[in-house]
This record gives sequence, structure tokens and C-alpha cells, in this order.
Amino acid sequence: MNEMEELYREIILDHNKRPRNFHAMEDATHHADGHNPLCGDEIEVFVKVEGGKIADISFQGEGCAISKSSASLMTSALKGKTLDEAKRECGIVVAMLTGKTDSIPDELGDIAALQGVRQFPARIKCATLSWHTLEESLQGGKTASTE
Ligand code: ZN
Repeated sequence: MNEMEELYREIILDHNKRPRNFHAMEDATHHADGHNPLCGDEIEVFVKVEGGKIADISFQGEGCAISKSSASLMTSALKGKTLDEAKRECGIVVAMLTGKTDSIPDELGDIAALQGVRQFPARIKCATLSWHTLEESLQGGKTASTE
């Protein structure tokens, strides 16, 4: 296993075992359900937007380790960011996960390890699910599907 694979494995295991921001949110201003029929992942993303910023973000649901850890990494990274920053980061991460870009900005931190999923094409949608669901919720949508 190379260093990147090792890091990928460690981060996925850690966030799967101890998911961050893993709870419902009563006073969310935005909320969407995400489904990935390929794997059976179901997640809900909750966002509280205040003054153009993501004041709080959380998720809950049932899914595989990759979908859960990707959502956990996403909520950790985006809390406190402006909406513009969050949308830009969503775009970068989805492009990275789907192999559309190899230039990963340093600001992504641990999220960069998710690119390890590209070795397992069947699992890429597990990793993009939470990001698509967040984008959908910020656009006022209620559901997102990877299909
Ligand atoms: Zn999955």
C-alpha cells in the first residue's frame, strides 16, 4: 500500500467510526435527502445559514463507510465557511472525486485523501453523495440522487 492509500484507509476508518456532526438539526434553514441507489446509501444533510455563512451543518443517515466518512469530512470542512466558499469547495471535491481534476488545493486538508476512492469506480458515487446533497439543499431542493 502506498502512502496515499494508507491515508485514505485511515481517514475513512476514523470518520466512519466517529462521524463528526452526525445528528439531525431542528433549526436548519436548508435540508435535503440524498440517495445512492447503486450502494443503498441514504443521507440527510442539514444546514443552518446565517448572514451568508454556514453557521452549522450536520448529517444523519445509513450508508457505507465511504458515504459516511465523506459526509463527516464535508461537515467538518464547511462549518463557518461562506456560501460562496462552500459551493466552490463542493465543485472542487466533486471534480476531484470524478477524476476531472488532479490539482487539489491545500485548503482541502484531509478531504484530499478521498481521491483514493478513484481506484474503486463503483464507489465514487458513495463519496460524491453528500456533496451533491449539500448543493441541492443550498439551491432549495429537497432530494438528490446519484442516478
Ligand atoms: Zn456507498
